[in-house]
This record gives sequence, structure tokens and C-alpha cells, in this order.
Amino acid sequence: MPLLAPDYYFPHITDIPGAFFTSHRLRLVILDVDNTLTSHNNPDPFPGVAQWVADRRAEGLILCILSNNSPGRVEPFARKLGLPFVANAAKPLPFGLARACGRYGASRRECCLIGDQLFTDMLAVNLFPGGTSILVSPWELETGGFLACKRKWEKPFLRRYFRGREEREK
Ligand SMILES: [Mg+2]
Repeated sequence: MPLLAPDYYFPHITDIPGAFFTSHRLRLVILDVDNTLTSHNNPDPFPGVAQWVADRRAEGLILCILSNNSPGRVEPFARKLGLPFVANAAKPLPFGLARACGRYGASRRECCLIGDQLFTDMLAVNLFPGGTSILVSPWELETGGFLACKRKWEKPFLRRYFRGREEREK
């Protein structure tokens, strides 16, 4: 498995049905915040996200936020969704994933991470063998700074992933 490719892709988190997790025997769902649950610095989850979270919890999944952003950003957002969180997670280092698995008594195979970035989210899972990586498209593309650069660097890897995906589906 290439380190920068996801195992699965959905346009948005709200497109992932509950049946996806049951059919893959996933029990612990680790969530990125920025551009996965909402846009950067937006204090509110995007439409449909709170309901999606509530539905998945009602189905018995364990949900937990794992963000590289600061506690000042992550804590109030996580509180709105009623979710536990880890801030300053230092993804792509996989320690946050290991901690979450330990905390909730989940095996690597039972855990997945949903995120929008190849170089942090997908790489973190791929450095945590057994975990499942799920890529979503960013709600809003960053227009400046380091993140805009990273988006540019992601492009060839994304192109390769989607080309391979089309071929696999033929
Ligand atoms: Mg993100």
C-alpha cells in the first residue's frame, strides 16, 4: 500500500453510510477537524455533520477527534459535537492513533481515520499498519500559505490514486 494513498475515498464525510463501517468491521472512527468536519477556523460543523455523528454513535461506533490544531480551536468544536478529542496530535506521527486505540480497547484493524490531507491524515494511518484510511475532499481549498503548497504537492499522488481507482473499477 503506497504511504500517501487512502484505502477508501468519499467526497464528504456525510457520504459515508453506517453500513460501510459495519461491513468493514470498524468500531473506532477517528476524525480530523479542519476541512473534514468543517472549514478552517469555522466554529460550527458543516450542515449534516452533527446528524451524521449522532447517527454513527447511535449505531454503536466510537468516535474521537484527532487534530493537529491547537486545543483552543479543537476543544470548543469537539464540545459542540459531544466528542472526545486530542489536539496537537502531530499527525503524520501515528502516536495519536495508537493512544486512541489503547484508550478505547480497539485493535488496529477496528480503527479508521477520516481526513482530508494526504501528508498528515493518510500518512499517519499508513504508518499505523492495520488501520484503515478514508480520504474526503476538503470542504474549501486553502488559498494561501503552507497548506496551499501542500495541496499542490498532493496533486500528483491524488491523480495516481484516482487513475488506479478507475482502472480497478473497470
Ligand atoms: Mg484537515
